Amino acid sequence: YSYYNENTILYVNGEYKKATAATIDLYGQSLHYGYAVFEGIRAYKTAEGKVKIFKAKEHFDRFKRSCELIHMPYPFNNDELIAACYKVLELNNMEEAYIRPLAFCPPNMTLKAASETHVLICAWEWGAYLGEKLLRVMTSSYQRPNPKAFKIESKTAGLYVNSILASQEAKENGYDEALLLDMNGNVAEGPGANLFFEKDGKIFTPPPGNILPGITRATVIELCHELGIPLEEKLFTVDELKTADCVFYCGTAAEVVGWDSLDGQGFAKPWASSLGKLLQQAYKARVLEKEFDRAAVPVA
Ligand code: PMP
Repeated sequence: YSYYNENTILYVNGEYKKATAATIDLYGQSLHYGYAVFEGIRAYKTAEGKVKIFKAKEHFDRFKRSCELIHMPYPFNNDELIAACYKVLELNNMEEAYIRPLAFCPPNMTLKAASETHVLICAWEWGAYLGEKLLRVMTSSYQRPNPKAFKIESKTAGLYVNSILASQEAKENGYDEALLLDMNGNVAEGPGANLFFEKDGKIFTPPPGNILPGITRATVIELCHELGIPLEEKLFTVDELKTADCVFYCGTAAEVVGWDSLDGQGFAKPWASSLGKLLQQAYKARVLEKEFDRAAVPVA
């Protein structure tokens, strides 16, 4: 997959540049130690035909918080960064796209001069990141990082080596994606997505603490409240998850994507008549700013 070509424009430190002409200091700490912060955001063409970045403010608030959590100076103005995202889309003639802000550092970050943090914003066209099919998921042999060893609520680049290891393991074993548990053996999340399950007409999801507090997760919770679907945040094990009526992952890149099975075992309800499918359609309507008619979706 090629993320850019000779015409691609990106934003770096206040300037718009050709991606092929942009450079990075090879001695920087971000490259050597993974001391960088990123976001993943999507822009949609709404029902009215406008290009709209979904929850841009929430993503940039988290971008700032992620930097602060790892003591990386944040000399940026989020309104300016959001305007830069729209400009990058425009300069690249993109409507529906995935937007990737990255804050990164030169050598000697211990100096902590605010002017030393660099920022990059690029965008590319990206379809469903986990595909459209139902996912065959494997319980990973890797755990999510221990919150006592890391600021797990920060989208720090280095943390994602854990995600890569888990996804690679799942794919090498013939699955589509991994499921990671926390250090206590409770279900946490996917390598790049939060998890929900349905049981007896109710939706469950792990509470904050050992997960990335996803913006899509927050949207799904809002949708449950709006649609009158009972929701509970609680800790649970893989054994409990295997008794679910349906399971889904959600994230900016993945959107809402249902599961076929966990470790080869399927779920009680067909996806087509699950609350997961209902929430998938409600999510799509929300990002496209369309009306959503619950009555039009069959739920068993
Ligand atoms: N968990 C992890 C580990 C992630 O990387 C992501 C993607 N940012 C998510 C959950 C979902 O977060 P969001 O809905 O904000 O994209």
